[in-house]
Amino acid sequence: MSYKNYYSFFSAAPLPRSWVEIDGQALRFNIRVARKRIPKKTKIIAVVKSDAYGHGLVPISRELVQSGIEVLGINNVDEVIELRNAGIQNPLLILCPILPPEAPLVIANNAWVVVSSFNEAKWLNQAAEHLGKKAIIHLKIDTGMGRLGFIPSNFVKEMEKIKKLSSVCIGAVCTHFSQADTDIEATEKQWLELLKLKEHFKGLPIHVANSAALWRKSVYACDYVRIGLALYGLAPMSFLRTLLKPIMSWKCKVVLIKELPKNHPISYGSTYRLKKPSKIAVLSIGYGDGYLRSLSNKAFVLIKGKRCPVRGAVTMNQIMVDISELSSCKIGEEAVLIGTQGKESINADELAKLAGTISYEILTNIHSNIPRQYRHFLSRSNASVHYYE
Ligand SMILES: *Cc1c(COP(=O)(O)O)cnc(C)c1O
Repeated sequence: MSYKNYYSFFSAAPLPRSWVEIDGQALRFNIRVARKRIPKKTKIIAVVKSDAYGHGLVPISRELVQSGIEVLGINNVDEVIELRNAGIQNPLLILCPILPPEAPLVIANNAWVVVSSFNEAKWLNQAAEHLGKKAIIHLKIDTGMGRLGFIPSNFVKEMEKIKKLSSVCIGAVCTHFSQADTDIEATEKQWLELLKLKEHFKGLPIHVANSAALWRKSVYACDYVRIGLALYGLAPMSFLRTLLKPIMSWKCKVVLIKELPKNHPISYGSTYRLKKPSKIAVLSIGYGDGYLRSLSNKAFVLIKGKRCPVRGAVTMNQIMVDISELSSCKIGEEAVLIGTQGKESINADELAKLAGTISYEILTNIHSNIPRQYRHFLSRSNASVHYYE
């Protein structure tokens, strides 16, 4: 090899061994499905906490905003700063309580905050007064979630105290359902708890619905909906899943192929022994990348359009799958962990069921160092870490 060829051989950017593809067309499709479900006056708070459920905070937020989403729902002040630095000017609603030292940054960056106590309102009021601005807060009522929010019996008294804070403006009243995906009656009961207090906050906008609740009952749409999962094309209820398109695929590569004899053990703990002589492929993915160890001996991956079973324990950066049924498979062959190949599909819900968890955890667990490739995106981020095609 000449020096020149040698040099260009090594300077070519290596292709990733595992990557995530995110489809902007499918995202816009899901947004349209959500819009059809809500009245014209209802605004969407698109929830992009936890790196947009593992899809990438900034690229997803840009695309959502470009597609007409009014508000972004986030978890903390770091996300406010990241989104403002990315040039996003839309309202940002922080869904988690803030800590006192965070109040000035929240106000300076014009973020809204869900508030569950008088103290939070007081800290925000102080910061707002100091900066000559108004703090916009959404008061949350704990109608049964047992996490954030004022308990209903204290709500009116606390709200009256908050109304006296001169630099605080109450932008909405909200609550959060604990089992909209599984229990219709319990959800309705929480809704009725909120309605009991409604005469005390007449005229204020209301929001209650997450993805599951929005498709349970259309009256839950109110003035805003706070939806995450459905925009990413997933749903806790199967009827809803069929209306949506998952926007993420997760792929990796075959790095080694070998033939092993009957009874040969596979992976740590020898939890699997081959029932017959088999062709085994080693794939470049493991629990260190976010492919859960609880998928050991349970999940499938797609290679050449066929379902190939994961054999033995998932290791930190490798898994073994049985490819005996494939007529051909080469080193470097693409394997689909989540997504579609040929006629077969594996979605995050399937992996979640096998792993004994929920699709939210499957998605947010995919390690952030795995490159995300954005396809059919209308918006562009200039950050070099985002790959657009
Ligand atoms: C995460 C979250 C949501 C979004 O829930 P999905 O099930 O993803 O639609 C809505 N509201 C609150 C308070 C949340 O924390």
